[in-house]
Amino acid sequence: MTTDLTVGRWAPSPTGDLHLGNLRTALLAWLFARSAGGRFLWRFEDLDGAARPRFYESQLRDVAALGLDWDGEPVRQSDRLALYRDAIAELRRRNLTYECFCTRREIAEAAAAPHGPSPEGAYPGTCRRLTRAELKQRRSSGRPAALRLRVGSDDSEPTEVTVVDRQLGAYASTVDDFVIQRGDGTPAYNLTVVVDDAAQGVTEIVRGDDLLPSAPRQTHLARLLSLEPPSYAHVPLVLGPEGRRLAKRDGAVTLQDRLALGETPIDFVILLLSSLGLDPVTSLDALAETAQRFDPTTLPRQPWVYEPPAVTA
Ligand code: GLU
Repeated sequence: MTTDLTVGRWAPSPTGDLHLGNLRTALLAWLFARSAGGRFLWRFEDLDGAARPRFYESQLRDVAALGLDWDGEPVRQSDRLALYRDAIAELRRRNLTYECFCTRREIAEAAAAPHGPSPEGAYPGTCRRLTRAELKQRRSSGRPAALRLRVGSDDSEPTEVTVVDRQLGAYASTVDDFVIQRGDGTPAYNLTVVVDDAAQGVTEIVRGDDLLPSAPRQTHLARLLSLEPPSYAHVPLVLGPEGRRLAKRDGAVTLQDRLALGETPIDFVILLLSSLGLDPVTSLDALAETAQRFDPTTLPRQPWVYEPPAVTA
């Protein structure tokens, strides 16, 4: 029996305190899930080596302080390595992977060569075509090998995958041979996210639109693993006053910064809501009503450019 229960998630990397932009995406992911009467899960994506113990706590604290809640205990990718290893082993068994010894620089150079394969940033397939002798030589060189997914057969047309995003409509892109395990043996983001979303029963991904180009890759991998791809809603980022993605340098942008300036969590939530064109609340409990009225079709399609409050001398 299938159920239509929406399961959303929030998947931050515990590498720093969350800022206005991250928390705005968290609020949106929560609103999408709760407005559908769905579950909302928390997953720490903590495999990239930059995770720090204090940020698990501070991220949970700040999201909770805004009146957002989640179901069950937060999970950590670092506790789930066996799941990723199983998926990688399956792909290897099916001969859908190959070792890649290229450095970033070599990839950039090969991709820039005339008649090199597009699209931008795509892996040009260098190591896919290594002869046995070349492979042997590379292996003995001591350079660590990443594992890449073999996308499409050698003589087939490029694999183009279209995802239909709830906010942005159809988005098509050619899927390249992307990395599923890094050179240091760590399972790569594009693999872990697919395995986790399926294992956690996630049906709906709401995240920043900087990740839209990853969605066709992830959908392709989900299909290869016979997993049901979730739906996507990519939401606009928050930009700093200079038009770059918001960062700590842009001033008092974390919740703790704002509380130190004398603001309250409600002030912070109202700022986020107003940036989304949503009505203010008078208490954090009232966010449940915001969720009931939530209509994603009214959300802004452009990034929000954050202007720090003027400093009075
Ligand atoms: N961990 C990613 C981030 O913090 C989010 C990945 C995702 O939502 O798919 O940007």
